[in-house]
Amino acid sequence: MSAQTEALHQVQSQVEAAAKASGRGSDDVSLIAVSKTFDAEHIRPVIEAGQRVFGENRVQESLGKWPELKAEYSDIELHLIGPLQTNKVRDAVGLYDCIQTVDRPKLARALSEEMARQDRQLKLFIQVNTGEEDQKAGVLPRDADAFIRQCREEWGLAPIGLMCIPPVDEEASLHFALLAKIAARNDLPALSMGMSSDFETAVEFGATHVRVGSAIFGARAKPVP
Ligand SMILES: *Cc1c(COP(=O)(O)O)cnc(C)c1O
Repeated sequence: MSAQTEALHQVQSQVEAAAKASGRGSDDVSLIAVSKTFDAEHIRPVIEAGQRVFGENRVQESLGKWPELKAEYSDIELHLIGPLQTNKVRDAVGLYDCIQTVDRPKLARALSEEMARQDRQLKLFIQVNTGEEDQKAGVLPRDADAFIRQCREEWGLAPIGLMCIPPVDEEASLHFALLAKIAARNDLPALSMGMSSDFETAVEFGATHVRVGSAIFGARAKPVP
């Protein structure tokens, strides 16, 4: 068994245990294996081990490996978890099954139009910048209700949930709780939160989707500056 397959099984059982500990079933939490920076040869053993849900953060990088993998394995569910520029919306709608980073009117409108054009309905999450960090994408918590309403009424979108990336230097659970609160008051059932370092806490706070990269694939190479 490859190191990544072993790590996958380890993470799967941790997710299951965390779900059980908070009175939920293991089917209530979807494990997204974040494969960014890893090529198809590293991803294939993880697919062979039964994992079907994957996350990537760049459209260009995804186009280099996923069309082939998706042709090979028909039941892959691919999530975009990184920022999306409107000039990449056509590629994104063609490739992904879910976009977790809807965070501004221009993007929401472009996605609505492109999904109609391609006759493809993707699952959508709205990203919330719970830490109100300048460098981070996402709608501000105080603007979330209005933006969700606008997505529904103006562009006919039906987001399924909210996504957040807490600030690295803060207690993640505060951000998970805030995200859950915003989702509840907007009738959004899905919560994408929790990464390698805190996915068990996220499950405890109601995550329905956890995004786990390095705990499965190992450390990523540092990006070339
Ligand atoms: C890279 C990434 C992850 C996974 O991070 P790990 O710490 O490697 O688990 C999760 N979410 C987003 C948005 C990411 O970009």
